[in-house]
Amino acid sequence: MTHRMHIVRTPAELRAAVLAWQQQGKRVALVPTMGALHAGHLALVTKGLTMADVAVASIFVNPKQFGPGEDLERYPRDERGDAVKLAGAGCSLLYAPDVATMYPPGFASFVRVSGLPDLLCGRVRPGHFDGVATVVAKLLCAAQADVAVFGEKDWQQLAIIRRMAADLDIATAIAGCAIVRDADGLALSSRNAYLSADERARALGLPRALMATREAILAGMPVAAALAAGERGIKAAGFARLDYLELVDGETLHSMGAPAQGARLMAAGVIGTTRLIDNIAL
Ligand code: AMP
Repeated sequence: MTHRMHIVRTPAELRAAVLAWQQQGKRVALVPTMGALHAGHLALVTKGLTMADVAVASIFVNPKQFGPGEDLERYPRDERGDAVKLAGAGCSLLYAPDVATMYPPGFASFVRVSGLPDLLCGRVRPGHFDGVATVVAKLLCAAQADVAVFGEKDWQQLAIIRRMAADLDIATAIAGCAIVRDADGLALSSRNAYLSADERARALGLPRALMATREAILAGMPVAAALAAGERGIKAAGFARLDYLELVDGETLHSMGAPAQGARLMAAGVIGTTRLIDNIAL
């Protein structure tokens, strides 16, 4: 099914389109992305269409969530290819604002969730989640969709967005979507495009370590020993840096010393020059 899909570039046009559908009694799902779309992003559209009548995607490479020395300039961009994929997935509207529309001269506000952004990825990417919360708040306010869908791939981001939406009385429901993986188990990511063939093979060390650590914990190994073994596995796979391998409470993201309901294994590391993240339920 290939859909007719319009592209709009201002928040007013986005809101007008969503409102028009809502006035026809249709529910609208919003899927925020940074583009360079893959099957993981399209799964969010599909999930949105199970919860709403119309899917709207946004593409915006948000400068505020990139730190100095990160990959803002080289981040992959392919709006035309992305538009074809979105239309094929049944998306009805693409919101693709430019930076000057999102952050016009004089822009001076930001949204900061406290607590959650200091943990895990926040320890090595200071300010990253403030940039995420700010842009997602703007997208949610502009669209006023019925539901917005985010991937569990970015588990910490999802937890922060849920917190923000609850705290700010944002009426849009926040939905999570399960991680989409390549056949061999590597989580799909726009940043996988940076990996050489050799790095792509070694990147598998991340999901493999997560699975091995889960098996070890479920088999009764103490959490600290299982995490230490998992860390050795990630280093042995050839990761240049391991930012963390942690067992956390899925909601508070606090470290857990023993397995419990809602626990999540979280990992992040750098292979070559590419930073990858992944997580699994215990
Ligand atoms: P990004 O374009 O990387 O900012 O991601 C946009 C949205 O897609 C976020 O909600 C991500 O969590 C989600 N996403 C990215 N990769 C995957 C994946 N492999 N599986 C599920 N969701 C994903």
